Amino acid sequence: MITVRTAAEARWVCSNWRSAGETLGFVPTMGALHEGHLSLARVARGRCDRVVVSIFVNPLQFGPAEDFGCYPRPLEADTALLEQEGVDLLFVPEASEVYPAGFSTWIEVEGVSAGLCGEFRPGHFKGVATVCCILLSIIRPHVAVFGQKDAQQLAVVRRVVQDLRLNMEIVGAPTIREADGLALSSRNSYLSSAERVEAPAIYRGLCRAARLAKSCPGVPVQALRDAFSEEIEGRPLLRLQYIDLVDPSTIAPMPVLDRRGLFAAAVLAGTTRLIDNVLLEPGTGAVEVETC
Ligand code: AMP
Repeated sequence: MITVRTAAEARWVCSNWRSAGETLGFVPTMGALHEGHLSLARVARGRCDRVVVSIFVNPLQFGPAEDFGCYPRPLEADTALLEQEGVDLLFVPEASEVYPAGFSTWIEVEGVSAGLCGEFRPGHFKGVATVCCILLSIIRPHVAVFGQKDAQQLAVVRRVVQDLRLNMEIVGAPTIREADGLALSSRNSYLSSAERVEAPAIYRGLCRAARLAKSCPGVPVQALRDAFSEEIEGRPLLRLQYIDLVDPSTIAPMPVLDRRGLFAAAVLAGTTRLIDNVLLEPGTGAVEVETC
C-alpha cells in the first residue's frame, strides 16, 4: 500500500492508474476504522482495479461544541488494517492540504441537507459536501462508496455528484452491525459499559417499526414512531433526538409509508450521539440499501 500526505501525490498516483486503463474505487473516511469501513473497501475492490481510502477528520463538518478535538485518530492501527485489506493507496492529508490558505469555496446542497441530522447539526452537511467535492476532485474515482448507515450523507453526496455532473458512480453499502444489532461506529468507543448495554435498543426499535411496515402497508409515520419509541422509553441513558420517515433521495418528510421510506433516528446515549436507520418498504419490511 502506498501512503501519501499531499494532494499532488494522490492526484499523480491516481492519474497514472487511470491513464493505464485501471478503474479506481474510493472510500473517504475519518479513520478509527472498523468492519463497516472495511466492508466499503471490499465493495470498492469488487468493482474496481484499484482501491483508494482517505483518512481525514474534517474540521468543517464538526460544530463548535462537537467532538473534533477528541475524535479518535489511531493512524498506525488504521494503516495496518488497510494493508491487510489490500488497499492500494491511503491518502492522509493535513487540513492545510485540503483547505489551503485563502480557501473560500463552499458547497451547500439545499433540500436534502435539511431535516434529520441537518436540523441538529447546522453546517454539518455543508462541511461534508465541501470536503467530498475536494476529495473526489483530487482522486477522480470511477466509483465512490458510502455507507447506508449515514443515509442523509449518502443522499447529499448523490445530489451534489448529480448536480455538478461529477462523472462517477456513487454506491451505497449496507450497515455493518455488532451481533446485538448496534451499528458499528467510531463513536461507539465513547460509550460507557452501561450505555453500551442500552444502545442496541435503537436497532431493536427500528426492527419493531420494520415488522409493523411489513404487516401494515400504508402505516402512518406516528405509528412507526410509537413502535420505535417503545424500545427507547424507560431506558434512562438513552434520549431520543429525532425519529423520522423521509424520502431516501430527497429527505422530504413522508406522512405515511406508501412507498420506500428511510426511517432514521438519532439518539443520545449519555453524551454520545448515535445514528441509525432502516429502509422500509410497505408490505415487505426492511430492505438493505438504497440503490438509486
Ligand atoms: P466516517 O469515518 O464515520 O466518516 O465513515 C466513513 C464511511 O464509512 C461513511 O461512508 C460511513 O457511512 C461508512 N460507515 C460508517 N459506519 C458504518 C457501518 N457500521 N457500516 C457500513 N458503513 C459504515
